[in-house]
Amino acid sequence: SEHRRVNCLLLLLCRGGREGRDVQGAFFVNKIGPGVDEPPLAEGDIAVRTDNKNADPCTSRGCLWNKWTDGKVYIPYYIANHYSSRERDIIVRGLESFSGVSCIRFRPYQNGDYEWLSIESGDGCWSYVGRQGGSQTVSLSRQGCLYHGTVQHELLHALGFNHEQTRSDRDTQQHNVSVPSADMKYNFNKIATLNQGTSYDYGSVMQYHRYAFSKNGLPTMVPIPNNNVSFGEATQMSRNDIDRLNRLYKCCEAASPSE
Ligand SMILES: [Zn+2]
Repeated sequence: SEHRRVNCLLLLLCRGGREGRDVQGAFFVNKIGPGVDEPPLAEGDIAVRTDNKNADPCTSRGCLWNKWTDGKVYIPYYIANHYSSRERDIIVRGLESFSGVSCIRFRPYQNGDYEWLSIESGDGCWSYVGRQGGSQTVSLSRQGCLYHGTVQHELLHALGFNHEQTRSDRDTQQHNVSVPSADMKYNFNKIATLNQGTSYDYGSVMQYHRYAFSKNGLPTMVPIPNNNVSFGEATQMSRNDIDRLNRLYKCCEAASPSE
């Protein structure tokens, strides 16, 4: 099965100074490439294990988390003890933010759990896409990843979502972004995402900002048809992010007794 990992830039949204942010973005992307023990990078910030040959969206291959008979999706998590209590609070707040708006219930790891999120301060902000089985790392570095929107962003990856700008319908919908040809164009390769009838969302917490991966200060994404619309500035899940999460996990449908 596929084990795709995504490194994230979202922390940059929370910082000031557009120029500084651009430079930092490019630097950050280069810096967070995998080490010798880590999988090779493909499509820029997405890492793929060498045993993976399958490019299908993972949600059609069974990377969704299981729903229980009460209609809730319980996902165990373990938070590494190297975080301060303030940092831990930010992470827990992000985990718990899903409860009020969806059927997703992150809960602390218990003895006997066979799959869970291991949240730790690794090299940058990154997550695998979808459920991997066993322990799966969600990296939230103490240096730059401990923001509410970043926590939600990484958890949405773990739930099976990709970046908004890689959506399959990116170039075909009226409201989308175009990617100018540039050195970093491979960061924006489209994925056969399952969009579940939701429209492209500039306000998605999964959408990068206009200058993401820019090395020369020029935009890497341009919205169509209105170049002036702002995007990639979300600090928390949008209404659309929540809607598609509920659709993907069928949160609004009654639980089946057989599940
Ligand atoms: Zn990401």
